[in-house]
Amino acid sequence: DIAHQTVILESQFAREFAEMAIPWRAEEAPDPQLLVLNEALADELGLDPAFLRSPEGLRLLIGNALPAEAAPVAQAYAGHQFGWYSPRLGDGRALLLGEIAHTDGRPRDIHLKGSGRTPFARNGDGQAVVGPMLREYILSESMHALNIPTTRSLAVVGTGNPVQRETLLPGAVLTRVASSHLRVGSFQYARSTDDTGLLRRLADHALSRHYPSAAAAGNPYLALLQHVISAQAALVAHWMLAGFVHGVMNTDNMTISGETIDYGPCAFMEGFDPGAVYSSIDEAGRYAYRNQPLVAEWNLARLAESLLPLLHADQELAVELAVEALEAFRSQYSAAWSAGMKAKLGLREGLDDDVTSPLVDELVALLQESRPDYTSFFRHLSEAARGQAEPARGMMLDLAAFDAWLGRWRALTPDADAMDRINPLYIPRNHLVEEALTAATSGDTGPLERLMEAVASPYDERPGLAHYAAPAPESFGPYRTFC
Ligand code: AMP
Ligand code: MG
Ligand code: MG
Repeated sequence: DIAHQTVILESQFAREFAEMAIPWRAEEAPDPQLLVLNEALADELGLDPAFLRSPEGLRLLIGNALPAEAAPVAQAYAGHQFGWYSPRLGDGRALLLGEIAHTDGRPRDIHLKGSGRTPFARNGDGQAVVGPMLREYILSESMHALNIPTTRSLAVVGTGNPVQRETLLPGAVLTRVASSHLRVGSFQYARSTDDTGLLRRLADHALSRHYPSAAAAGNPYLALLQHVISAQAALVAHWMLAGFVHGVMNTDNMTISGETIDYGPCAFMEGFDPGAVYSSIDEAGRYAYRNQPLVAEWNLARLAESLLPLLHADQELAVELAVEALEAFRSQYSAAWSAGMKAKLGLREGLDDDVTSPLVDELVALLQESRPDYTSFFRHLSEAARGQAEPARGMMLDLAAFDAWLGRWRALTPDADAMDRINPLYIPRNHLVEEALTAATSGDTGPLERLMEAVASPYDERPGLAHYAAPAPESFGPYRTFC
């Protein structure tokens, strides 16, 4: 029978961290219907797509039919939400089903979102709706295709449950795959228990799972902090270079692995705008595009505070070590961002920063003034490197200043082909995402499938896909996300 597979789910976290894991079961879905399956990811996990599409496979994907030894749990974590500390957040509508072996040899968490109320649900209904779950699927898989570290999406399954939001909407479960679900907020939670043994075990677990080479360092917990700082500096530089606005950079939404997690009111910006904010609940713009590096640094300071008892027996010295580690964030972020900008501009790595930095700074100033579509501007710029300056020029307001900039840039002989391998043509533009979600919510997954095909290969121009490379029509208006 091809529609059967024995799936092995480990339960290491559930076993070793009972203090932070409540055994729980996913709610039974009355009528599971597959909305989208990531066959490539299924293959990487050694899961047979034909099995996953079967009724039994669908029930596995939503936690309704698990291997006998499985031990699904709701994970506990704390977190600063918009700067305010909540001592007890946790998986209110999510579950860790367990860990599965990836073909690369390292474990992955299999996690559900939208699987029913848990003891962490507070006032929430435990449900998720089709639109936002498909949104995470599209955005996370697009980020992966853009080579940006991220949690992955294996599937979205409609539950057959109606969910009350502003209107009644169809319910769904997202099956998420991640190198772990350890968050800054997980360490805040462990620290808040005053159980240094638990904190140490959690740090040892994070080291062995994400930074095994650091476990042998003289001060492994300082090394853990340093590695997370480096991973987040690199991640946020990726976001900034791609024009990605996460939208809810609460400490519970920042991973220890350095993967992007929790795609809520996030968006890729179109017109370049450092103040870009899309989330309807972020009224003060705390998580605006330009603030992301600062917020990441702030969140990492919360991680450093949580780790203090492990950094040194003398807490004054522990603080000194933490501060020193945090100071590395700015230089690492700047180095990653500058190197990324150089690459976006097709400039050789050997070129002196004294030459390239002013060029980059001036371009950013020009972009701020003209607010061109950020993604297509860089694709047009590679045409300018080949001698076709017009499309890029047409996006700018101060032509004299831009021409002067172009002259200095072209004198450095930028590599247009290298630019096209790094500047995407196809990103999940907000109007395309909305179009795909609206159609899928009313039963037509065609637009979603076509959008996924475009964004799965973001750099290679293909015939018939011009629609996916174009900015939103004026009629789309200002974008707001409600997640
Ligand atoms: P998020 O905004 O997705 O990062 O979630 C923040 C917190 O709210 C987490 O503890 C979630 O588990 C919880 N939460 C969000 N939505 C729901 C819901 N519909 N039901 C229960 N808990 C929820
Ligand atoms: Mg979250
Ligand atoms: Mg969310």
